[in-house]
Amino acid sequence: MLNQAIDHMMIENREHFMIPGDVVASVSVDNSLRHAFLVLTKVRYAKIPVLDNQGHFKGLLSLPMITDEMLGLDDVSVEALDTQCVGDVMETDVVTVANPYDVENVLHLLVDNPFLPVVQDDGSFTGIVTRREVMKGINYIGHNLDHYYQMTPKEAEAEHSKP
Ligand code: AMP
Repeated sequence: MLNQAIDHMMIENREHFMIPGDVVASVSVDNSLRHAFLVLTKVRYAKIPVLDNQGHFKGLLSLPMITDEMLGLDDVSVEALDTQCVGDVMETDVVTVANPYDVENVLHLLVDNPFLPVVQDDGSFTGIVTRREVMKGINYIGHNLDHYYQMTPKEAEAEHSKP
């Protein structure tokens, strides 16, 4: 179980925890690969969420998922950019969270994922939790824990309580 002091301080900082959906770069599941190629190149994020027209989360898209479709045996062709759509190439086996403030679960999942899409039970996308934002929270705790909690090493405490 996560230490209560850490959990509490992370939650105190929760307004920075999740990047809300309206400022997350995304593409639509039925966008052409040409459009998605341009978006990914412009935003410079490695992977971005894919949504449907109702704002439901459908998967993730990266540039290699697109360029893979352009590679022939010994050539590159741009044909796939107009004949395929995002839904054809996106990754769908994605780890998501419903509650971005379940700190223990989020920390655990961010070990293997650079960010976690936040998706409600009905499939609606509400934002992302990134390693970067969580690292900022941990940095804050590292610098401020002793302003909120009295910290004594266990050995010193035992020494102090000796008769
Ligand atoms: P960071 O921890 O900020 O480096 O973000 C990790 C990953 O999260 C990035 O490589 C992107 O794939 C994704 N990401 C972060 N911020 C955004 C954003 N505003 N829009 C879309 N994807 C993002």
